[in-house]
Amino acid sequence: IRILGIEGTAWAASAAVYDSATDDVFIESDAYQPDSGGIHPREAAEHMHDAIPRVVETALEHARETHDGPAGEAPVDVDERSSSGQQAAPVDAIAFSRGPGLGPCLRIVGTAARALSQALEVPLVGVNHMVAHLEIGRHTADFDSPVCLNASGANAHLLAYRNGRYRVLGETMDTGVGNAIDKFTRHVGWSHPGGPKVEAAAEDGEYVDLPYVVKGMDFSFSGIMSAAKQAYDDETPVEDICFSLQENIFGMLTEVAERALSLTGSDELVLGGGVGQNERLREMLAEMCAQRGAEFHAPEPRFLRDNAGMIAVLGAKMYEAGDTLEIEDSQVDPNYRPDQVPVTWRRDEPE
Ligand code: ATP
Repeated sequence: IRILGIEGTAWAASAAVYDSATDDVFIESDAYQPDSGGIHPREAAEHMHDAIPRVVETALEHARETHDGPAGEAPVDVDERSSSGQQAAPVDAIAFSRGPGLGPCLRIVGTAARALSQALEVPLVGVNHMVAHLEIGRHTADFDSPVCLNASGANAHLLAYRNGRYRVLGETMDTGVGNAIDKFTRHVGWSHPGGPKVEAAAEDGEYVDLPYVVKGMDFSFSGIMSAAKQAYDDETPVEDICFSLQENIFGMLTEVAERALSLTGSDELVLGGGVGQNERLREMLAEMCAQRGAEFHAPEPRFLRDNAGMIAVLGAKMYEAGDTLEIEDSQVDPNYRPDQVPVTWRRDEPE
């Protein structure tokens, strides 16, 4: 089967085509870059409005060029007409990110997905963006039942599967991990996104004392961010602050990830989300996993930051499980939690 995925929860206007026969994922993305400050919801929605039609058209062109009929059937002529007299659809379903994310952006993506589903006469699949961050790691690692650390812009979760749901074992009590880093870099006057700049500056830094806050299985980033801003105002070298931010924040994530592995008995960890592109975080997680004999997998960067490839890949699994949506039930949900999602595509797997 071939699925068109559409992503637009925050900054990435992205469309992808996933072909389950070849496992090929074609992704076309157009990033929103704020002129100053962080992500402005209205500007981000305007970006979606402009860019989504473009990226979708490019992805559909790719689907048409590589079109050889629905998977499992003999190749069809591209001129073949469907029963309604239209050209056969180049994809079997439209998958879109329903949430969580910025409401104005999600609504544009939802409208585009519904329109395409109707125009191409193919089903609609509503994908939870956080579960997609997790599933792309499980898919690319070919893991059975991993714990997932989602380290993204607006979120931070430890997730594991149990009895038909992904359970949230630990999460941030305040801001998402990437957003916390971006708030510090805005204070310093660096352009968005801040994560890569902190990573580069940290190379020349030394440790200074900053808060480290883990409570049970949850973590908090607001105290460390205030302390980092204060340290900057007090003229502590910015390289030292960046180094220490990384050591503490990623140490917190690694500590809870280890506890989640221990609690679940899983020996597989996957990483998801844009902050997962950070080398120091990957190094800490890899080292922790090696010490306890667990396998660690970080997907390639194009699958870590927001992208429609992960929406299309999970969309394909949901479509195959018959987990499609009627248009009237397809409203978006800015607060859609990963543990709200019935995991239809893993029903027969051992828990
Ligand atoms: P969510 O998936 O929760 O909706 P999001 O839409 O903001 O989050 P992601 O693409 O998952 O987006 O992550 C973006 C975040 O990743 C930004 O906060 C950015 O600063 C951070 N980031 C990107 N590269 C790095 C890096 N090398 N080190 C640390 N953080 C990084």
